[in-house]
This record gives sequence, C-alpha cells and structure tokens, in this order.
Amino acid sequence: MTPGLSSAADIHSDAASSSPSCWKCGNTIHPSDEIFFCKCGVIMAPRPNMDHFQLFNLEKSFNLNEESLSQKFKDLQRQLHPDKFTQKSETEQQYSADQSSQVNKAYTTLIKPLSRGLYLLELSGDPIDETTDNTNLDPDFLMEIMEINEDLAETDSMEKVNAIRKRNQQVLQRLTTDISMAFDKGDISEARKLLIHLKYYDNIAGKIKELERKEFED
Ligand SMILES: [Zn+2]
Repeated sequence: MTPGLSSAADIHSDAASSSPSCWKCGNTIHPSDEIFFCKCGVIMAPRPNMDHFQLFNLEKSFNLNEESLSQKFKDLQRQLHPDKFTQKSETEQQYSADQSSQVNKAYTTLIKPLSRGLYLLELSGDPIDETTDNTNLDPDFLMEIMEINEDLAETDSMEKVNAIRKRNQQVLQRLTTDISMAFDKGDISEARKLLIHLKYYDNIAGKIKELERKEFED
C-alpha cells in the first residue's frame, strides 16, 4: 500500500486479511504490536477479533489485579478519549470513538467478578443460559435466597439492612474465592454453578444498595 494514500475504506478490507496495515503510513501491523497506536503515532482502527482480556494485554484468567486494571483503563481512556481528537481527521475521530467504546466495554465487563466470570464462561463456549440454568437450582439454595429477600422486604430498620449486607458481603467474598479456585483448576462446570449462585447474591447486593440509597435520600 502506498503510504499516505490509504482511505478509511481500505482499513476494513485490510482488517479482514491476515496482515492488516496502518491506515496512515501503511506499515504492516503484527499481532504483537501495540494495539491502539501505530509506530508512526496515529490512532489505529480497532483490531478485529480481540477479546476483552487481549485488549488490556491480560491473561484470560478470573484472577486479575483489579487495581492495575483500573489504572490501565484510566491511562487508555485518557489516550483514546474523543476530546483529544477534535482537531484531527474524521478517520481519527471515528477510531478514537470506536477504540474508547471498546475499551469501556471491556473494562466494565472485566472489573466485576460476576461479569468477568460470566464472560470467561462465554469464552469457554459454555455460557449461562438463563432459561435452563435457573430451573435446575438446588431447592435449599432457592429457599435461602427467598428468605433473604423476604427479610429485606420486611426490614424496618437500617440496622437490620446493615446486618444483611454484612452477611451478604461475606457470601459474595467466599463465592468469589471458590469461583477463582474452580477456574484455576479448569473446573468450568463448578465455576458455572457457583457463578449462578453469585448472580443471585449480587442481585441481593443491588437491592441492599437501593435501600441504602433511599434511606440516604429521606
Ligand atoms: Zn502508521
């Protein structure tokens, strides 16, 4: 490709081929190259078929350092933010918007244990199916969830809400540790089972937050 003569339309055809190149300088982009900017300095088109982990240059693992992920996200968000490209070409503005939204989506998915775990199940080819997975739940587990929900609905003091929140946080913590161990062992079906439980407790955490927010408003 002749440097400088490429147009936005070229990139899409390049992306489909095995060796894409920079839309601006024409340099071939290798898989190990930096993802967001070319050596020539311009922002690049989102690379096709990147999963959320690859985008952050992370191993596909449930165990990740959330603090360092947040730091990486902030750095990328700053570099890619569309506000930084308002004086640039339309192509660059478009790529900055595309890259930013891809990074945002990846971050939102990876930062929380629940969505991270569900995403790993998806990558493993065994995602959770709401309709069938919820019907095979252990009755004792369902009973427990029902009781917590009843307690929350009937509670008349923030003290009681606090007590429920503390207990719920302990369960969330324990489940997260167990899920991490299951993934480490490669036991996807166990991770899957625990993630479904985590979903229910996460839902309870959401309800607790809602109650606390209301209390704060009053
Ligand atoms: Zn370039």
